[in-house]
Formats: sequence, C-alpha cells, structure tokens
Amino acid sequence: MAIGVKVMKRPERQVSYVRATLKGMALTFKHMFKKPVTMEYPEEKSTADYTITPRWRGTHRMATDEQGRSKCVACGLCPQICPANCIKLVPGEDEEGNRYPLIYEIDEFRCVFCGYCQEVCPEEAIHVGVHYENSEYSRDRFVYDLERLMSQTHPVSTLWDPADPRGE
Ligand code: SF4
Ligand code: SF4
Repeated sequence: MAIGVKVMKRPERQVSYVRATLKGMALTFKHMFKKPVTMEYPEEKSTADYTITPRWRGTHRMATDEQGRSKCVACGLCPQICPANCIKLVPGEDEEGNRYPLIYEIDEFRCVFCGYCQEVCPEEAIHVGVHYENSEYSRDRFVYDLERLMSQTHPVSTLWDPADPRGE
C-alpha cells in the first residue's frame, strides 16, 4: 500500500500565532461545557457510565465448596503454568486419598495477571477477580495465603472468550 506524505513547508515570512492561539482556546472552551470523560476517583467509583469490564483480571479469589472448603485439589497445574512463578503450593492428602493444599499462596506483587491459572484449573477453584484496589504498604502483605484468597468476595473474571472476541 502506498503511503502518502505531505511535506509541510516552513513559512518564509513572519507569521502571527494569534489565530492558532485563539483556535486552541476555542477548543478548550468547547470542552469546558461538555460532559467530562473522567471521574473523581476514589470518591466516585463504578457508576453506570464507568463500569469495570467483567474481563478485568485483578486480585485472585479461591472458590469454596458447600462446606466452605477450598475447591483446590492441589493438582499443581497453576504453579506449573504461572509465567511469573508466583504461586506456592504444598500439596497434602487426607486418609481417603483426597488431595488438598497444605499451603497455597499467591504473590500478587509478582503476578502479571495473565489469567492462565484460572484457565488451567480443572476444578474452577482459582480465579482472577474483577478487583483492582489491592495496594499495600509492605511487600509481604501482597502475598495472599489460602484463607485470604478464600475470603475475597469480589466477582471473578469472565476472561477472554474466543467465541466472543470483542466482548459483545
Ligand atoms: S494470573 Fe498469571 S501470573 Fe498471576 S498467578 Fe495466575 S498464572 Fe501466575
Ligand atoms: S490448578 Fe486449581 S486445583 Fe490445581 S493446584 Fe491450582 S488451584 Fe488447585
């Protein structure tokens, strides 16, 4: 495809910038009377006009069963696939041979929120969540243990759907 190039010549005589300045000011004034496209965070959060997409990949959440136990069966797939190597799993096994996590931790600071852990989980246990307010004052607070992951209540991400690539 040919690319059109428009060569702009420098003016050879002295020009006034008043016209350009007035044009710029007119544009500014025009926007002063338009509805703002920004919001006053954190006073304003999600509204009808500014909603966070259900595909958002943020703070993790561990799903639980009817008895309130973690759905994780300690299969080891999520720490295996995690590109940031930020999931720590120590598997355990009960008397009946059921596997469960003795230790399950995610370092949210190292996580790149790719969502692979959610995609790979055979039990739909671990999820990235529609949540972004997870700032902390110390590094160690970013390491979420199993209890903390289970106590999260925000919605889980719907992730990208190949059948609906534009999210419509
Ligand atoms: S979202 Fe990606 S980087 Fe974060 S814990 Fe899951 S697999 Fe690892
Ligand atoms: S993939 Fe799911 S079941 Fe397997 S260890 Fe991770 S959270 Fe647990």
